[in-house]
Amino acid sequence: MSAEATIREGGCLCGAVRFSAKVSTREVHGCHCEMCRRWTGSAFLAVTVPVREITWTGSEAIRRYQSSDWAERANCKECGAPLYYHVTTEGPFSASLELSLGLFDDPSGLTLSKEIFIDHKPQAFAYSGDHPRLTRKETLAGFGISEEDN
Ligand SMILES: [Zn+2]
Ligand SMILES: [Zn+2]
Repeated sequence: MSAEATIREGGCLCGAVRFSAKVSTREVHGCHCEMCRRWTGSAFLAVTVPVREITWTGSEAIRRYQSSDWAERANCKECGAPLYYHVTTEGPFSASLELSLGLFDDPSGLTLSKEIFIDHKPQAFAYSGDHPRLTRKETLAGFGISEEDN
């Protein structure tokens, strides 16, 4: 789904890290995988934004953590807020960041459009809406990854 590009701003809890991003999607993705759950405490809701469309302020306060062989997760060094997920292996995915929805000053107009690893979601909560909900197996198949690689 394409949408008119909007300049959206946001930042972490303490304000040390801020961004301005040209966002040309309205789609929010939710991930319930174990790593996202442990990282965020619930699920990771994010908006895909090309790296080149994001301008950071206070980037020296960004701490990157290599969470797997193929991706890193960034947090604010000061307040710990999750900032983004980034695929680091060569390929089309590395050109974008999954920017945390929680950072946006004004998330209006952004809509949950897909949930992945739905079979790993804790029973304690569920997001509403009529959108695709992919199991772990379906999610990995979509990325061309076999179960064993994960
Ligand atoms: Zn912070
Ligand atoms: Zn995840």
